[in-house]
Amino acid sequence: SLILAIESSCDEMAMAVLKDKREFLSSVVASQIDVHALYGGVVPEIASRKHVECVSLVLKETLKQAKISIDEIDAVAVTKGPGLVGSLHIGLQAAKTIAMAYHKPLIGVHHIAGHIYANNYEQDMIYPSLCLVVSGGHSELVLLKAPFEFEVIGTTLDDAVGEAYDKVGRVLNLPYPGGPVIDKMASMGNHIYDLPIPLDDDSYNFSFSGLKSAVINLNHKANQRGEIINKDDLATSFQDVVIEILVNKTIRGAKAYGVKQVMLAGGVSANRGLRKAMEIAVNKLDEVELLLPPMSCCTDNAMMIALAAKEMYDLKMFSDLSLGIKPNIDLENESFSEVNRNG
Ligand code: ATP
Ligand code: FE
Ligand code: MG
Repeated sequence: SLILAIESSCDEMAMAVLKDKREFLSSVVASQIDVHALYGGVVPEIASRKHVECVSLVLKETLKQAKISIDEIDAVAVTKGPGLVGSLHIGLQAAKTIAMAYHKPLIGVHHIAGHIYANNYEQDMIYPSLCLVVSGGHSELVLLKAPFEFEVIGTTLDDAVGEAYDKVGRVLNLPYPGGPVIDKMASMGNHIYDLPIPLDDDSYNFSFSGLKSAVINLNHKANQRGEIINKDDLATSFQDVVIEILVNKTIRGAKAYGVKQVMLAGGVSANRGLRKAMEIAVNKLDEVELLLPPMSCCTDNAMMIALAAKEMYDLKMFSDLSLGIKPNIDLENESFSEVNRNG
């Protein structure tokens, strides 16, 4: 099969062509990071305007790199949500136009299902498995009982991990987005600052706003006293605490649910400290393996949407042309049985 996938949920317009299970003929990401960096975050209105400008060019380039013509595809897949309303609209409208004009089946993909199925890139996902989803808008522990059977066993009560990274980055005057910069700094500093451990209870939920505020206050007080903060040390202290809680809750969940695989997903899964710590922790478990999305597939891209769509294609989880955007849709609503029940 040949699947064309489109992802435009936030500030990237991305498209990819997937042949069969995991051979990518092309993958293009038009990032707007430079524009939004000027504002220290994504400006929704600007994101959708830029998407309108580049959508046709990205499509043209994606097909050119894949060396196919558009009528050769077997299905067109698109992120239907969650994400920014204006951004989602552009990708979905493009996908529906292609589906209608070329009589191709349409596959509406949940953005987080895409992040999760990025793990299928190099190796087969096996079930049951537990995925730690850590991105700009989500921090969740997701149990995968079977292909496209999701149960969210824990979620964040406040900030997402990526959001906490980016806010800390902004306060420390680091380039946007803060996540990858803090990751690099954390590998150079020492854990010398005492920060509160975030929500260490027996649930699978997360909370990062207290930790984020503690970092911001520490920096603020030091500035007031005219003291110099070692930003690398602060990055290390912050990241260590984040990783410890993420790894602890994931490992406890993996044992409790008897899973065969542990996976990471979302932009923060590119964090080298987290990847390393999770590897060490999962290695200590008997008969549990760790799957990681390749670095190129962690932050938003269309390969991950294509990988999820391939699974949906095989399960015949198609959408019709009345498909609308779903800016706030839950992952559990996307489960195979649920979709079938809803027709
Ligand atoms: P969502 O997927 O929840 O809708 P999003 O699509 O905006 O949110 P992603 O593209 O999945 O988010 O991830 C972006 C986030 O990942 C940003 O917050 C960014 O700082 C963070 N991030 C990227 N690389 C790293 C890294 N190496 N360490 C920590 N955070 C990182
Ligand atoms: Fe994302
Ligand atoms: Mg993004």
